[in-house]
Amino acid sequence: MLVFILNAGSSSLKYQLMNPVIKKVFASGICERIGIDGVLSHEFGDKKLKVDANLPTHKEAIELVLRTLTVGEGKVIDSIDNIQAIGHRVAHGGESFKSSALVTDKVIKEIEELIPLAPLHNPANVLGMKICQELMPKTPNVAVFDTVFHQTMPDYAYMYALPYDQYEKYQIRKYGFHGTSHYYVSNEARGMLDKKRNTRIVVCHLGNGSSVTAVLNGKSIDTSMGLTPVQGLMMGTRSGDVGAGAIQYMMKQENLTIDEISELMNKKSGILGISGKTSDLREVLDGMQEGDDRCRLAVDMVAYNIKKYVGSYVAALDGIDALCFTGGIGENSALIREIVCTGLDGMGLVLDPIKNNRKRNDSRDIATNSSSARIFVIPTNEEYVIANDTYEVVTKS
Ligand code: AMP
Repeated sequence: MLVFILNAGSSSLKYQLMNPVIKKVFASGICERIGIDGVLSHEFGDKKLKVDANLPTHKEAIELVLRTLTVGEGKVIDSIDNIQAIGHRVAHGGESFKSSALVTDKVIKEIEELIPLAPLHNPANVLGMKICQELMPKTPNVAVFDTVFHQTMPDYAYMYALPYDQYEKYQIRKYGFHGTSHYYVSNEARGMLDKKRNTRIVVCHLGNGSSVTAVLNGKSIDTSMGLTPVQGLMMGTRSGDVGAGAIQYMMKQENLTIDEISELMNKKSGILGISGKTSDLREVLDGMQEGDDRCRLAVDMVAYNIKKYVGSYVAALDGIDALCFTGGIGENSALIREIVCTGLDGMGLVLDPIKNNRKRNDSRDIATNSSSARIFVIPTNEEYVIANDTYEVVTKS
């Protein structure tokens, strides 16, 4: 089964061609600057290809990707007819979707109805589906949602303490995101644990976007992102949790519109806002080494925020069997892992500094042998979850 995975953003489009049955990736890449000019970066085997192109819309971008996969230097398949299914990453499934879904007109309509909850992402996701239907009319499309894994949260965890009619009228509640990553990592962690039942796992997905999830017996019971991804941890450019009073005060003082405050909190805050330099943690760590105190503050805030969420989710789970780190920061920054885990011995989490500092890129246990709970670093694989769900939906339909 050859699955084409698409992650369509507002001006970019990531793709992968994968056989989920044997977990083999044939090609992957990204089209960027769609609507501006256009560039395609394509990887196949150990080779890389860069193509400058005119990509006025997502349609030209998908056409270019399909052409690159089938002809010329970057070719990996003879024809687009070899693609048996297409899996689309969809940002927001609201309460309508409790699992991945075969794309039909009704499903597209339901995803469109959720656009107010994800105004930047859902329109691009739907566009990707419609273009694929047009270019490959015989190939089934499947929608895989970032929110679905968190649909198991109990009501007392997902409700905001606002007037109840806000939930009834507008479905204002916590949804959570990064679901495919939290599912993949917690599932891997369950496999790595000695016990397979009653597992209490906290997953820290730490990248440019970051979230923490409490997973009980394989099900999400709480997560740090909310109605939108801006809630929870401090991220690359997102603020994470900020008191509502501070938001109202900023809007009043600076006479900000809804769009302006949203831009401020989603694009100009987080690591970028505090460091004043960059949203990239590696660069902030370098700045800290060079004595920049704002970089030091950003690093301290990032780690402290994660630690607070870990502690609160250990309480929500009535204990912990495994703490997992994933994402660009979680997989690569031994320092952040060390700061987060320092002092958590009382919760049964004891980090082994030697294992933590070993540079490896496979799944591994970095807790001491005597630690009662495990600490895992697990490289995430969201594309695999999308491809595998697509395969299962298509073969069962
Ligand atoms: P992602 O969004 O998962 O690709 O993660 C991107 C983030 O991971 C950026 O903030 C990077 O600076 C950070 N990152 C990647 N490698 C490292 C590293 N070796 N040390 C610290 N941060 C890293």
